[in-house]
Formats: sequence, C-alpha cells, structure tokens
Amino acid sequence: MARYTGAQCKLCRREGQKLYLKGDRCYTGKCGIDRRSYAPGQHGQGRKKISEYGLQLREKQKARRFYGILEKQFRNYYFKASRQPGVTGENLLRLLERRLDNVVYRLGLAASRNEARQLVRHGHFVVNGRKTNIPSFLVRVGDEIVVREKSKESPRVKELIERAADNTPPAWLEYDAEQLKGRVVALPSREQIDAPVQETLIVELYSK
Ligand code: SF4
Repeated sequence: MARYTGAQCKLCRREGQKLYLKGDRCYTGKCGIDRRSYAPGQHGQGRKKISEYGLQLREKQKARRFYGILEKQFRNYYFKASRQPGVTGENLLRLLERRLDNVVYRLGLAASRNEARQLVRHGHFVVNGRKTNIPSFLVRVGDEIVVREKSKESPRVKELIERAADNTPPAWLEYDAEQLKGRVVALPSREQIDAPVQETLIVELYSK
C-alpha cells in the first residue's frame, strides 16, 4: 500500500495554495506556504506562464495530493467514475470523499488525512461492527464508523475524541460524540465537498 513520503509543504507550495496536509501546523505561522509562497526548487520563483495542459495537470496533481493518493490509484478512481451514471468529475470527487481515511478526517477523528490513514491502518476503527484497516475502503449510506473499544485508551485517540466533539462534520455525515460513532447519512453532493479542485479540468486531462 504505497504512499507519498516526501515533504508535504512542498506539495502545497507547488500547487500555490494550502492543502492542509500537516494538520494543526497548517494553521500556525510555521506553515510552509506562509513562509515561502513560491514553488519549490531552483526555478520556483521563475516563469509563471502555464499551458492549458499544464493547468489540467496541476489540477489533477492537486486533487491527488489533497486526498493523498498515488497516480495509479487515482487513475483507477477516474475510470470507475467515468463508468458511473452522472457527471464524471463529480463522481470522481464523491469516490474520493467516500474513502474511509477521508471520512475519519471529516468526522474530526484525525488532524489530517495522513493521520487518518495511519489510524485506519493501525486498526483503530470498526465499520459496521468489523475492524477495518483499509484506508481506501469506500463507505456507503448507512455505514457506521466507531472508534475501537481498545483504542479509546490510546493518548492520541483520546485527544482526537475530544477534538471530534468540537468538530462539525459535513451534512452527509453524522457524529455522536457520546457513542463515538460516525454515520454516513447520504452520499456527498458537489456542494458538500470542499475540495479546492476544478474537477472538469481533471476530466479533460484524462479524456485526451
Ligand atoms: Fe501545506 Fe500545511 Fe505545509 Fe502549510 S503547513 S504548506 S498547509 S502542509
């Protein structure tokens, strides 16, 4: 199960905007993009002109990095989305949102998607009564995501439980702070997905 292990802030700087990949640090003065608001590398402050293909490529890279997915898996999501009825771009974002690591993050039970991914891999969550440690697991309407009984003793999980109590999840999710239980009440609509992505550009890129 491969994942990107390089510098996170470089990814935001390359995309020219905050992607909130590092959790709490992203809201402090230590944010990489606040400190150096230009692209990384020797030519980061150089030429700005970008082609149509470049725009499409950047948008796809941004979406990938926002959700923490590598190229091959992202392409597979695109093909899956293109076979579904409806608008391909919206289908794609909906698939990405339904990933278990993203849902854990949206419920406030992790400071970032990276942390959510790690918590899921370490088996801290139970979906519909079954321990599920696959970050790419796609939730469905009616699914219940609960913090595993044993995990409630972990200091970090305790902190996150407190954090989730103050978090307001998107309208397609519900969170019961007493039972530590999240529930998928609907599939997300485009308006409920706050990803900073123009999905039409991604569709144009892959339809070439
Ligand atoms: Fe991006 Fe967060 Fe790094 Fe800021 S601190 S550049 S938002 S990953």
